[in-house]
Amino acid sequence: SEMKEKNPWHKPLTIIITVIGVIAIVALVTVYGIVLDAGSSHTALYIYKWPAEKDNNTGRIEQKHSCKVKGKGISSYAAVPEKAGMSLTECMQEAEMQVPAWRHQETPLYLGATAGMRLLKVASDKVFEAVEKTLQRFPFSYQGARILSGQEEGAFGWVTVNYLDDRLKQSVKFKSFFGLQTTGALDLGGASTQISFVPREYDISESPSNAVAFRLYGNYYNLYTHSFLCYGKDQALRMALAHQTQSGPITISDPCFHPDYSVTRNYNTLYDSPCVSERKPKVAPLNFIHTGEGNFLQCQEVIKSLFNFKSCKYSKCSFNGIFQPPVQGSFGAFSAYYFVMNFLNLTDGSMSLETITNYVANYCSTPWNKLHSDINEKYLAEYCFSGTYILTLLTEGYNFNTETFSKIKFIKEIKGSDAGWTLGYMLNLTNMIPAETKDSPPLPHA
Ligand code: AMP
Repeated sequence: SEMKEKNPWHKPLTIIITVIGVIAIVALVTVYGIVLDAGSSHTALYIYKWPAEKDNNTGRIEQKHSCKVKGKGISSYAAVPEKAGMSLTECMQEAEMQVPAWRHQETPLYLGATAGMRLLKVASDKVFEAVEKTLQRFPFSYQGARILSGQEEGAFGWVTVNYLDDRLKQSVKFKSFFGLQTTGALDLGGASTQISFVPREYDISESPSNAVAFRLYGNYYNLYTHSFLCYGKDQALRMALAHQTQSGPITISDPCFHPDYSVTRNYNTLYDSPCVSERKPKVAPLNFIHTGEGNFLQCQEVIKSLFNFKSCKYSKCSFNGIFQPPVQGSFGAFSAYYFVMNFLNLTDGSMSLETITNYVANYCSTPWNKLHSDINEKYLAEYCFSGTYILTLLTEGYNFNTETFSKIKFIKEIKGSDAGWTLGYMLNLTNMIPAETKDSPPLPHA
């Protein structure tokens, strides 16, 4: 103690240490944000966390936790809206445990719905009401539930991928010097599918509805994006079955399903979706027998017939008269792209388009009884269709070729955070990516 008294630095030092301590504690405070992804087939809850300090470096936000809501997507509860709300309770309770209690009130909570709700149209109001009621009962800072537009879904998926890959913050000059370009995003849902990428500079946008311009960290991006409603994998399967049942047959032999496969399907159930309802045969029995043939090339023909390649008023189109510049650069393909390719063991980046195509063709020709002997998989019967659909959509639809296909990576997550629109959505709404100055969000929250 004698030493201390003699040391003239003692008092200032204590103050300095205290100040550093307080700064360190403030810096250690973790901020949380919650986003519910109300997809067509299911709802998932994501909790993100990041340090409280104001320096918004890229890659600082990470996914802390995710929870899969049991049962189907909220759009499936159109006839019983209260159940849509109730279905979220379990994951919300999990979120209450995951976020420290003293942070609850500061934690923003968003719900975004996608193509499943876009298809519902009228009944969606009641479902949202029920969902709101449930979400407001929780202690978080509830920020609202809404349907994302297809452009938003595509653009936010692109933001997520590039944010997690640390591709946004560097200056554009640095990026072009080191060949560090942005990554395109390919998202396959149940009811819609999105493609988003930055085209080559000389491929100017010919269609305003497919162009999203934003400024992130002072860099300007002109993104091409399109969302095809009804071209998610579940609705595309409905369209393929509708195509094969136009004349109201009792039995169909489907090239997209395995040989020996046979189930009875109901006509009303199949045609109960705006993607196919207009094509419902006038005269048809109650059910039809869906049998498989396992023929990749013929399956591809069925799928190609779902795309309209005829009309294009632009210099180039993907399909259905939608403008699309040539694909450019590397791509991350996630959601159902990943689920399907992962099941088929085709996510290894070294495989060529030809190898993958041959594999899927061979898989489709495998008899059904050879497949389901030991695995109990809900999606098992559909992987031949899904694999063929993915390859056809990418090559015939979006015009990927052998060379550009090799730049697609099938991914589930990047650095522990799931690829999808949710993170990009939250970054935008919490102003975590400044355009330059803090005041303008890159995309509006309508
Ligand atoms: P959404 O619910 O709109 O986000 O779409 C997700 C899509 O992924 C739906 O078509 C689901 O059927 C599909 N899906 C989810 N898990 C799997 C899986 N393990 N295997 C195949 N497809 C899946």
